[in-house]
Amino acid sequence: NLSDKLDKAFHILKGHGKITEVNVAETLKEVRRALLDADVNFKIAKDFTTKVKEKAIGQDVLTTLQPGQLLVKLVKDELTELMGGDVAGINLSGNPTVILMSGLQGSGKTTFSGKLANYLLTKKNKKPLLVACDIYRPAAIQQLYVVGDSIGVEVYSEPENKNPVEIAQNAIKHAKANGFNVVIVDTAGRLAVDEQMMKEIAEVHKAIQPQETLFVVDAMTGQDAVNTAKAFNDILNFDGVILTKLDGDTRGGAAISIKSVVNKPIKFVGTGEKMDAIDVFYPVRMAERILGMGDVVSLVERAQEQFDEEEARKIQKKIAKNEFGFDDFLSQIQQVKKMGNMKDLVGMIPGASKAMKDVEIEDDAFKHIEAIIHSMTPKERSKPVIIDVKRKARIAKGSGTKIEQVNQLMKQFEQMSKMMKMMQGPGGKNLMKMMGG
Ligand code: GDP
Ligand code: MG
Repeated sequence: NLSDKLDKAFHILKGHGKITEVNVAETLKEVRRALLDADVNFKIAKDFTTKVKEKAIGQDVLTTLQPGQLLVKLVKDELTELMGGDVAGINLSGNPTVILMSGLQGSGKTTFSGKLANYLLTKKNKKPLLVACDIYRPAAIQQLYVVGDSIGVEVYSEPENKNPVEIAQNAIKHAKANGFNVVIVDTAGRLAVDEQMMKEIAEVHKAIQPQETLFVVDAMTGQDAVNTAKAFNDILNFDGVILTKLDGDTRGGAAISIKSVVNKPIKFVGTGEKMDAIDVFYPVRMAERILGMGDVVSLVERAQEQFDEEEARKIQKKIAKNEFGFDDFLSQIQQVKKMGNMKDLVGMIPGASKAMKDVEIEDDAFKHIEAIIHSMTPKERSKPVIIDVKRKARIAKGSGTKIEQVNQLMKQFEQMSKMMKMMQGPGGKNLMKMMGG
């Protein structure tokens, strides 16, 4: 999938100390290929990589981030921009606010109508009315009733009436007379774009003048989604896109193309069949999802913010003088803890969240480590080399841990000290900087 391919693309950069014309070109070629494979339009993919390349070369941020991270960040930022940058809200002006759903059959219009009604009812304190304008299938009206019942929202329908324009207009009258402040009009779709469907939705659109015309599209349909979006936009000039079925493994490459081709914001995403499976569309999160990289960049950023600079400088000095001890180790742990809940942190590491899915992470994963260090004497903490078998046994007993746990910590400490010493050497500056030094 796209994520694996991008992983590979970024892997090329590994081991290179600097971003150069050559290694960027190589990596971005892979990025472009990955985007193409995910059904992103050729021209969009090409423009995209050109832009990232221009930004990457000549960047003077090499001192703060590793080249790979820098490129990930640039790609992510550019993807975010491509998908609209900021969150696009929904226009709730108008009394009542009229919202029209459009899209092909099976795209998820009826389901999303329910989700949106539920969202507006529970999150925005609105009183929505659902309107059944799918006049072709009696089952469609029934489906909307089931949806409405499940969320406690009234449904308006005229089963005998075969004129969707009239039904929609009557529904708005009904809403006004009965204190509904949002009217969500669910319409009929076909399996493919056809003239009759377009004519019908255009007539409804013209008659009810909705504040929001939303185009609902199945995220799994790839490049077809783009053509459908274009056809509907030509007729309706819609206000926003709803990307459904973004649950499971769907990477949502279609989102990039749709936004670029019709230049309309994606407003919500559907992530399941249940009524609460609705999310406001955050371009940045989508970029992350497409990149499949978890939230590496913000993990790095958060680390930068939280690591106390003063502390880092102090530790740096100690390392230089070979004085790094368990007290410093403890304070490092406290720094890490400040960054937040362990579960969140693990979730931000790509791959880790999947691997750790079934592992219960204690929020206080450092509890034992802290207990062990607290059971050491000040001398032991500053000069860990003196900790022999006898001392280890005492420390284990005092901290209520096993001697193996003490051994494990000693090993971790040694590794960390070694790593820190290495960071003092050439190339290590970046890492220290990353940690706020
Ligand atoms: P419509 O023909 O456009 O009204 O589409 P429906 O709302 O009837 O949805 C078609 C099918 O897709 C139904 O089986 C829905 O349960 C399913 N569906 C809709 N939205 C989602 C979603 O976000 N995720 C998943 N997994 N299924 C969805
Ligand atoms: Mg429907």
